[in-house]
Amino acid sequence: MNFVKRPSLKGVYITPGTLKISKLPDNEKLELHTLDHALVLLKGQMTAPELLAAAHTLAGLAADLITHLSEVCGPCEQCGENSCPYDDLDEAGIDLPDYLRQEAGIPQDAKLCAEVNEENSSVTISAAEHRHDLRDIPPELLETFTAVGACLGELEEHMIMEDIVYGK
Ligand SMILES: [Zn+2]
Repeated sequence: MNFVKRPSLKGVYITPGTLKISKLPDNEKLELHTLDHALVLLKGQMTAPELLAAAHTLAGLAADLITHLSEVCGPCEQCGENSCPYDDLDEAGIDLPDYLRQEAGIPQDAKLCAEVNEENSSVTISAAEHRHDLRDIPPELLETFTAVGACLGELEEHMIMEDIVYGK
C-alpha cells in the first residue's frame, strides 16, 4: 500500500495506522535508511522470516519501479535497429586529458560529445548540454530494459530531458 505524503517544515509524519500496516512496532526502535530519492524505515530488530519478508518486498518495489519506467518508454518498435542509441554505447567512451578539459573550460563532471567533420578529417569534442544519458545506467539494469524489449531510444530521451516519468 502507498500513501502520498507532502513534507512540511516539520518533516514527514507517519501515522500509527501506517506503521501498523507495515507491521512496524510503535514502541520499538526503527531504522531509517536514507537512500537516493527514497527513505526506507526498517524494523530495528527482525527475525529471519521478518528480514526475508522485508527484503522480498523491497526487491518487489525496486522491480515495480523499473517496470514502470520500461512501460513509460514503451516497446521498441518505432525506431529501426540502427537508430536505437544502444548500438553506439561502445563508441561513447570519449575522454579528454585533464589539461585539455581545463584549457577548454569543460567542467570535470561534464559529459563529452564528439562531432566528426569528414571534410577536414577532424573531430570536435565539446561538453554535452545534458547531464544524464544511457551511460549513467548500470549495465545490469540496462540489460533488464533490453531483455523486456523497452525502447532504449525513449529511455535515453527521458534521461537527457529529465522530465517527470513517475507520479503526477
Ligand atoms: Zn527503440
